[in-house]
Parts: sequence; C-alpha cells; structure tokens
Amino acid sequence: MIAIVGAGLAGMAAARRLENAGCQDYTILDRESRAGGRVDTRIIDGFRLDVGFHVASTGYPAFQRILPSFLLDPEWFDAGVLLQNGVGELVPFYHPLRHPRSAWDAGWPPFAAWDLFHFATLGLECLAGFGDVWAATHHGSAADLLSKRGFSDLCVESFWRPFFGGVFLDQDLQTSAGLLRYYLRAFILGRAFLPGGGIGRLASILREKIPDERFRFHANVREVEKGPDGFRVALDSGEILRAVSVILANGPVGVSQLLHWPEPEMRPTTTLYFKSRRALYPERCLVLPRAKDALVRHYVQLTNIDPGLAPKGSHLLSATVLNNQDLDDGTLFSLALREIGNLMPDAAGLLEPLHVTRVPAALPAQTPQRLASWLERRANLPPGLLLAGDLAGNASQNNALETGVAAAEKALWMTGRLT
Ligand SMILES: Cc1cc2nc3c(=O)[nH]c(=O)nc-3n(C[C@H](O)[C@H](O)[C@H](O)COP(=O)(O)OP(=O)(O)OC[C@H]3O[C@@H](n4cnc5c(N)ncnc54)[C@H](O)[C@@H]3O)c2cc1C
Repeated sequence: MIAIVGAGLAGMAAARRLENAGCQDYTILDRESRAGGRVDTRIIDGFRLDVGFHVASTGYPAFQRILPSFLLDPEWFDAGVLLQNGVGELVPFYHPLRHPRSAWDAGWPPFAAWDLFHFATLGLECLAGFGDVWAATHHGSAADLLSKRGFSDLCVESFWRPFFGGVFLDQDLQTSAGLLRYYLRAFILGRAFLPGGGIGRLASILREKIPDERFRFHANVREVEKGPDGFRVALDSGEILRAVSVILANGPVGVSQLLHWPEPEMRPTTTLYFKSRRALYPERCLVLPRAKDALVRHYVQLTNIDPGLAPKGSHLLSATVLNNQDLDDGTLFSLALREIGNLMPDAAGLLEPLHVTRVPAALPAQTPQRLASWLERRANLPPGLLLAGDLAGNASQNNALETGVAAAEKALWMTGRLT
C-alpha cells in the first residue's frame, strides 16, 4: 500500500498519477473533512469567496501537463496593473506585447527609461531559463536583485513591492530572488486567470477522478516510522497502517512535524471582501497602492474577471492586507475603505463590507537560506519516504502539482509498477 498524507493539491496530484498508472492500492489521509487543503472557496450570502487571494497562471507548466487550464473554465486577468505614478495618481501599466493597444493608450509608463530597460533584460533572462528556483539559493533575496539591477525607488515602491510583496506575503522582499524569477517567468509566458467559480475549482476538478473510497478524512497522521519491512503510519485514533512508500503532502508545518525538522516560519494574510451595486473601476486587473506601510497591499474588482463570483446585480472586490492583521474586522474595513477611497473617491459611497477571511499560516517564509536548508534535508530522507508540496520546492500551485506527480512516479517505480 502507498500512503499519501494530505489531500491538498500535492496529495491529490499524486493520487491522480497513481490512478492513471492503474494503481489502486493507496490511501489519502487528511485530518480535515474536505479535500483541497489551502485551496478553498466558500459561499457566503451568495458570493463565492476564496480563502485568501489566489491567482493561477497558464505560465505554470502544470496547467498544461497535469491539470490543463481549459478544464478550469479560466476567467482571465489582463496582463497589467493600475499603479501609482511619481505624483501618486493611479495609472495603467500594461504588458506591451500582450496588450499593445492599451499600453499605447496608457502612454509612456510611469518609470524612468532605465527601469524599462531593466524590466526587459530581467524578463529575457527569465525566459531564457534562469527562472530555476534552485538557482535561488545563490542569488540572494528579491530585494537584493532589484537593487543590484538598479531599478529606481519609484519602480520598486510602485510595482515590485506591492505586486511581489502580495505574491510572497513578504513586504520586505526577503524571499529568494530565484522565486521572483520563477513567478516573473510564469507571468511573462502565460496569462493569469481565476478558475471559474473560484480557486476551489482546482481542488474539485482534481478530486473528480479520484474514487471516494481512496480518501480517509478526519485521519490525522501522528507519526511515520521506517521499519525493516516498510513504513508504519500511526493515526491519532491509534490505528497503524503499513505502507511500502509514504508520500508526505501535508503542508510545510505538517511535514516538518512528522520529519522533526525545524518548524517553518509561516506568513499570514487577511482578505477583506466588499460588495457593491456597480464596479468601482472597469479594468480587469489589480490595483497597487504605493505606500509600504499601507494596510491594503493590493485590491481587485474580482467580478470584472469572473462575474459569477457574485449574485446577479452585485459586484465583489477583495483587498489583501499584510500589515496590522491583528486589528478587528470593523477597524480593518474602515481603514481599508479610507485607503481605497484616497485612490478612488467613489469607494466610500459604494463599497459595503461583506466578509473577512484570515489565513494565519498561508505561506512559509522562502528566503534563500530556508530554500537551501530544505534542499539539504530532503537529500537525507530514507528511500520510500517522499515529499510533495511547499518543502519539496516552493509554495505554489505549480510546485504542488508537479511534486505530487513526481512523488507518485517515484513510488510507482520503487514498487515496480513503473519502469
Ligand atoms: C492565501 C493563499 C494564497 C495563495 N496564492 C497562491 C497563488 O496565487 N499562486 C500560487 O501558485 N500559489 C498560491 N498559494 C500557494 C498554494 O496554494 C500552495 O502552495 C498549495 O496549495 C499547497 O498545496 P499542498 O497540497 O502542498 O498543501 P496544503 O494545501 O497545505 O495541503 C495539506 C493537507 O494536509 C493535511 N494535513 C496536514 N497535516 C496532516 C496530518 N498530520 N495528517 C493528515 N493530514 C494532514 C491538511 O489538512 C491539508 O489538507 C497560496 C496559498 C495561500 C494559503
């Protein structure tokens, strides 16, 4: 038997690969009552609210090879953002090759010519294959990379920090430069999208091809031990399962606990959802406030991208908060409304607080040192104990899907079912 611990994207990608190879001798164990892990969409007052702000991209190889994006009913973002220029006004900044007309209409971008030159050279490097996350360990932090490249302060504060601070949940951009390249490559090569009906669709589509009887929910794995004839998987209930191979796909904290690794530092995020009778702005893109100490790191009129997220006649906007997340809901809503209103004065009369989603342990801190330490530790795992998900690479949907499939293939190979 092959045991998969964790029914998130990584665990289910592994299960799908086992099913495709005709292997039915496996179980997916999850301590919760549902599959999907950190990927979840909840319905509140008829609105479809993702648990935290998520975006997918066709630039992720996994959305071609493992879970083709067309299965996800993609709803597309435009390749651009609204950001604050040197005098604090909101201006559009579009990818000139994807939206030449909009880029032309927007006029000269709000940055210096040398910033555009650095964008072009960094983009070309990423396309040429320097997006490899492992190179990350040699390349310092994202902040170092941007400063060594010579991007202006205006460019860092208007674009890089709000955008990638939001992606990494790391205002200081101490995340590995390799990851910045990894994501930049995905955004240049592909199109950003929301799976129709919310990010939870990633999980529900994966789950469709896995028979219900392979899942065991409310099954918290307490310990995994290697013995002379395979692995002993101990559940909280006292039950012991025997497995020839174990795929640990139970998220960074869960994996660290089972392997007795130092617990990763997890980064929180809070998402404020507002409803309204009409859209606050018409573009299909994120808005990036510039101030580093701003409460709202970015916001987006989600129903411009997927109208199906709100009941008919309503609109949905999400604001991602990284600073001061410990404030109560009412204070967060009023501060956020004030900040959004400073950029778009209609906000005050239009946006109504709907719901707050708090994710206290969303992503692990992914500094170059931490990525290097996971790489080193992985090399010492006993044969048959396989890792999938964040600690097997990085915290992304792409990595979860790819490392899930790779772990399943190793398990099949070890049990002689894949040659
Ligand atoms: C708010 C947020 C926004 C994100 N945005 C993006 C984005 O825009 N783009 C992107 O690429 N990535 C994004 N990510 C990252 C991406 O969602 C994750 O990296 C990916 O979903 C991880 O999947 P996983 O299966 O490895 O882990 P998880 O989803 O964490 O699944 C682990 C599963 O293991 C179970 N488990 C844990 N311990 C045990 C145990 N001891 N026994 C049994 N079961 C256990 C848990 O219940 C869970 O179901 C985001 C993540 C969050 C939280």
